[in-house]
Amino acid sequence: MEQLAINGGTPVRKAPLSYGKQYIDETDIQAVAETLRSDYLTCGPKIASLEEKLCQITGAKYCVAVSNGTAALHIAAMAAGIGPGDEVITTPITFAASANCILYCGGTPVFADINPETYNIDPDSIKRCITPKTKAVVAVDFTGQATELDKIREICREHNLILIEDAAHSIGTCYNGQPVGSIADMTTFSFHPVKTVTAGEGGAVTTNSKELYDKLVLAHAHGITRDRNQMVHPTDAAWYNEQVDLGYNYRMTDFQAALLISQLDKLETFKQRRKAIVKKYDQAFSQIPQIQVQKEIPESDTTRHLYILRLRTELLNCDRREFFDALRAENIYTQVHYLPVYWHSYYEKLGYEKGLCPNAESYYLQSMSLPLYYSLTDEDVEDVIRAVKKLVEYYRK
Ligand SMILES: *Cc1c(COP(=O)(O)O)cnc(C)c1O
Repeated sequence: MEQLAINGGTPVRKAPLSYGKQYIDETDIQAVAETLRSDYLTCGPKIASLEEKLCQITGAKYCVAVSNGTAALHIAAMAAGIGPGDEVITTPITFAASANCILYCGGTPVFADINPETYNIDPDSIKRCITPKTKAVVAVDFTGQATELDKIREICREHNLILIEDAAHSIGTCYNGQPVGSIADMTTFSFHPVKTVTAGEGGAVTTNSKELYDKLVLAHAHGITRDRNQMVHPTDAAWYNEQVDLGYNYRMTDFQAALLISQLDKLETFKQRRKAIVKKYDQAFSQIPQIQVQKEIPESDTTRHLYILRLRTELLNCDRREFFDALRAENIYTQVHYLPVYWHSYYEKLGYEKGLCPNAESYYLQSMSLPLYYSLTDEDVEDVIRAVKKLVEYYRK
């Protein structure tokens, strides 16, 4: 529903500004066109080139490109051996896929609370969730900021848990100088158009373990192998392949890979622009008591995917909903990341109850994501800041 800007006045912007947007240039378009003219639309050489490039960027030994970030999480959960009776700890402040991948495998998601300042999963809360049934942790680099990987890895080592890092937000981020993708047992990526680099739809899993890599490769392509060492009935017949496990078709196409390779060439440029925008927002909002600025841990050199505007609603005469709608009336379109996963009605039906993670729930009730993407101009950023300041001025107690 459209509404007038507050006081019935003119909105800060004439044309709406979305919260996220891909950036595609002529080089990207050419790369895709070239691949469409080649012999391979799928299962071709672009996939290997992409996997190699992702290994270079992340420092990982192995990479499997897949059809989307959800497929990446699913095969990672499969490779981790998650099954019925297993508990897997994750965060509620994430896209549902981070928890759904556990359900796909018959496991039980257990939600740890977030740190109220960084909004990432709280290592102490992880510890409290561990039981003899715990098998793995799915940690999410929320907004692109790396989770507290040292502490989480230590907990996983101590309790013999597999660490899956959902890095859908964080390609290009480094933790203590090491790129995400080479730190956890497996790291998953998404290349959806709202993310920092895109393949249209796309995903990947990286790992340093040959054993996990072999499982990932099988899981993403029907469980069928051409590797004689993996066969139960090996033969030297050239046509022979064998299904040794139950897998899926989660392959990426070659023209998607070509697009992503071309996008990855711009990753550093994208990263720097996103950092510059975050700096402008942080500088403007850290002066305003009604706004809580997300804490950055010094270990994380972050490629920021999302900029969270968190309201100290106790200092305002409005709730998040009213502020969100008022920003929209100023033609600043935001989005909310995320509804705590266990608040979704499907999880409610599974028996999860409200009140489970108080920090996550209060975060959700106060937050929205401001526009943040490469092609956002300085003027756009100024508009967003002006609109936010205008509303804070109007609603403050
Ligand atoms: C986008 C996203 C996913 C899923 O990726 P798709 O490519 O859309 O399937 C998973 N986890 C998080 C945190 C995401 O933001």
